[in-house]
Amino acid sequence: MSFFSGLRCHLCGTAFPGEALFVCDQCLGPLEATYDYEGVKGVLTREMVESRPENLWRYRELLPIEGTPRAGLNSGFTPLIKADRLAREVGLSQLYLKDDSVNHPTLSYKDRVVSVAATRAVELGFAVFGCASTGNLGNSVSAHAAQLGLECYVFIPNSLERGKVIGTTITNAHVIAIDGSYDDVNRLCTQMADRNGWAFANINLRSYYAEGAKTMAFEVAEQLGWTFPKHFVSPVAGGTLLPRIGRGFRELRKIGLVDAEMPKIHAAQAAGCAPVVHALKEGLDYPEPVKPETIAKSIAIGNPADGFQVLETVRETGGSGAMVNDEQIVDAIKLLARTEGIFTEPAGGTTLAATLVLVKEGVIDPDDSVVLAITGNGYKTSDAVSDWVTTPVQLGRSLKEFEAYLGSRPMEATRKPPTHDKG
Ligand SMILES: *Cc1c(COP(=O)(O)O)cnc(C)c1O
Ligand SMILES: [Zn+2]
Repeated sequence: MSFFSGLRCHLCGTAFPGEALFVCDQCLGPLEATYDYEGVKGVLTREMVESRPENLWRYRELLPIEGTPRAGLNSGFTPLIKADRLAREVGLSQLYLKDDSVNHPTLSYKDRVVSVAATRAVELGFAVFGCASTGNLGNSVSAHAAQLGLECYVFIPNSLERGKVIGTTITNAHVIAIDGSYDDVNRLCTQMADRNGWAFANINLRSYYAEGAKTMAFEVAEQLGWTFPKHFVSPVAGGTLLPRIGRGFRELRKIGLVDAEMPKIHAAQAAGCAPVVHALKEGLDYPEPVKPETIAKSIAIGNPADGFQVLETVRETGGSGAMVNDEQIVDAIKLLARTEGIFTEPAGGTTLAATLVLVKEGVIDPDDSVVLAITGNGYKTSDAVSDWVTTPVQLGRSLKEFEAYLGSRPMEATRKPPTHDKG
C-alpha cells in the first residue's frame, strides 16, 4: 500500500502530481514528495520495520513509489559501526560511522537515492535513465540501468578519477565526458532532460531521488535502538543528503516511531569547494557559487542545487559547518584506515576531518554521541592517496633476507600488543 500523495513546492506549497517534475512553475522552488502521514502512522510500527528484509525498503511507506520496488533489494541497511579506536584518538566517547562505503551494488550512498529514482523511472514509463555525475552517481545509475534493462546516459566532467569512470563504462552505458566542471555538466543536462523524454535521476526525477537519502537517517535511528544521536556530520555536494537526514529524523518523530530531540546536523566540505560553509559563516540565505579545486571530486559541486535546504537544515537543528584542506582530508583518510580498517574516499576523509575541527572548536562535546556519514569507498579513488602512503618493502625470497630486514628495523617499530579494554 502506498501513502505517497504527489509533489509539493518546498517554498510556496503549491501541489503537483507525482510526475517527472522538479521545479515549481509558480516560484521556481524545488518540489518534494508528500505523504499521508496519518495513514503511515496507523500502519508502520517498529516491529513491522524490524521484521522486514535488511534493505532501504524497510521504510517503503515513507518513499515516493506507488507499486513494488524494482531495484535496491540489497541496498541500504549498511553497518553502523561503533568506532572505539578512532574515538579514543580523537577524544570522543560515542562515535559511530554509518558506513555507506559498502553499499550495494556500487559502494556509495548513491545506491540509496538511485534505487528509489530507478524504481520511479520504471513506474513512470521511462526507457532511458541518466544523470549528471561527479562519479559515484554515474556508477550507481549505470548499474541500476543495467539491472533494469534501461538505456543509460551518464554525463561527467572530464577530470574524474579513472576508477570511477571505468565503474560506469564497464556497464556499457553511454558515457559523455564534458570539457568543463560538474556545474557545467549539470546545466547541460538540465537543458536536455525534458527535451529528450529521458529520466535523469538527479534532474527531472530529483524529487524522488532525494527521498532515498532519508533512509540513512531512518536506519541510524533504528540501529541506535530507535533513538537519535546528539550530532550528525554529513558531507555536502549538491545538497541532497544533508537536508534529507533532517527530514528523515523529523518524519520518524511525526509518525511516532522515535521520541527524541532532533540531532544537530553539521555540514562538512572541502576548503576548495565550500559554498555552503562560507554561507553559514557569513549568514547568507543562499550559497554563492564557487569554482571547485579539491581532491574531493565526488563532492566538488560549486553551485549546489539544494544549497538553500542545506542552510535551512543546519540552522534549524543548531548545527554548524566546517571546511578542511586537501592535506587534512588525506590525513583523515589515513587515520580512519589506521584505526578502524576502513578505506574511504576523499568525501569520507572530509567528513572525518571536519568532525575533528568541530571537536576542537568545542561545537561537539567529547561526551556527546556523534554519527559520521561515510559516503564513499577509497578503493575507487586510490590515486588520491597514493603519494602519501608507505610502499611495500622489497625483499628476495629467502628467510635470511627477511630476518635481516627484521633485525635492521629501529626498536620503536616493534609493536606493543594492543590493549583490549572493551568489556
Ligand atoms: C554524492 C556524494 C555525496 C553527497 O552529495 P549530495 O549531493 O550533497 O547529496 C557525498 N559523498 C559522496 C561520496 C558522494 O558521492
Ligand atoms: Zn513554489
